[in-house]
Amino acid sequence: MSHSLRITAPATVSNVGPGFDLMGFALDEPNDILQVKRNNLNSIRIINESEANIPIDPAKNVSSVAIQSLLNKFQIKDGFDLIFEKKINPGSGIGSSASSCTAAVFGVNKLLGDLETKENLIEHALAGEFIASGSLHADNIAPAMLGGFILIRSYDPIDIVKLAYPKNLVCTLVHPDLIIKTTESRKLIPNNISLQTSISQSGNIAALVAGLNTNDYALIGRSLNDYIAEPHRSKYIPGYSILKKRLKDCGVLGMNISGSGPSVFALSDNLETAKKAALVMKETFIEKDIQSTSYISGISELGTRVLD
Ligand code: ADP
Repeated sequence: MSHSLRITAPATVSNVGPGFDLMGFALDEPNDILQVKRNNLNSIRIINESEANIPIDPAKNVSSVAIQSLLNKFQIKDGFDLIFEKKINPGSGIGSSASSCTAAVFGVNKLLGDLETKENLIEHALAGEFIASGSLHADNIAPAMLGGFILIRSYDPIDIVKLAYPKNLVCTLVHPDLIIKTTESRKLIPNNISLQTSISQSGNIAALVAGLNTNDYALIGRSLNDYIAEPHRSKYIPGYSILKKRLKDCGVLGMNISGSGPSVFALSDNLETAKKAALVMKETFIEKDIQSTSYISGISELGTRVLD
């Protein structure tokens, strides 16, 4: 049995427009890397070999909390070192904490001889994600673990649906150099919505799933609007409304905020448009004196896996 494994887990785009807390997809890149190693200490030790600002205290690190949930379920007292080579910066809105959680529980579960299925590991990863965001939301965790385009039909019990989608969808993702913490960003969203908002939002979610299923690109584009989070969160992303108009003019299907922001994503049906969108995003943020990092990526089916 292995003593140590290097695990990789993808970045993810969550919410995906109308699918607030319900939808997410995995990107081909960037991918996080975490080494999971048995130790003889009967406790979890965090070793951060990356530049990322993550807690060293196991009680505050999402990965150790996620692992503890798995160990508690099977009453296991073994100790593990978690050696972080983080490639996805916390607070970037592409599921940094989720990839840390899925990589950790997946790695420890493998070292323990696959006690849980990949699907069942999601509940443990969620226990870790909870301490980063203060809420139980699986829209980063589920695609980070399983790959693909995911819909979470229910949280109690958790019911995850893998959606069909056109294989030539390309995602342009730009991370402006601003930090918005999920915990803060969630406070911007009202606890209650009106019946009219609920109807409009449901229409977009249903139409997005239909568009993805039938390769109806125009329908995907029309459905990528959000009435719950986008109106509140977009105020904290300088230039957001100009960006939305410019991206539409350059031919993307649609755009929205990735997760709780500040990253934004656009979906295109070809690589050329996706590249143009990256330039438009970069230039629009530069006009606001904000540097940014961009990624152009397909949707990944791979999810969390052993690296070597
Ligand atoms: P993201 O959407 O990129 O995950 P969040 O703001 O939701 O961004 O989560 C990042 C928060 O979780 C940060 O406050 C970070 O310090 C905390 N955190 C704790 N442990 C980890 C970890 N192992 N990996 C990433 N973030 C972690």
